[in-house]
Amino acid sequence: MPTLTGSCICRNIEYELKLASIDDARTSLCHCRNCKKAFGTNYGLTAKVPKDTFNLTKGIPKEHVADNGSGAVIHREFCQNCGSFILEYGDAAKDCFRYICVGSLDDPEALPPKGEFFCKARASWMPDIPNVFHKQTVYE
Ligand SMILES: [Zn+2]
Ligand SMILES: [Zn+2]
Repeated sequence: MPTLTGSCICRNIEYELKLASIDDARTSLCHCRNCKKAFGTNYGLTAKVPKDTFNLTKGIPKEHVADNGSGAVIHREFCQNCGSFILEYGDAAKDCFRYICVGSLDDPEALPPKGEFFCKARASWMPDIPNVFHKQTVYE
């Protein structure tokens, strides 16, 4: 049973992910406008994991909750000292899943991507990731 660790950049926040299998995590890129803003770059990169596999081991993140502009309420948690983005989740999935910011893992290559969402909003200079699924929005 793989245990992955992660933290913010100042390490005030640390966490463990206890996955039954690496396949319990679904890492994806998202090119939507909200992810661009929240991550401060041209896409978001998160690993969807079952909620109970994520445990904080140090610190309490600050939470920001907002409507994403299309009716979904998104919770985002980040370090209130260094600002590193740790995770997010939609209100509708709050009892089931967490979306971990993959760059916060101590081994950021532990969970490679399985797909890309909102490809219609991909930055014009960024090529497709090969050999993963590609959806123009969330569903298609
Ligand atoms: Zn920090
Ligand atoms: Zn997005």
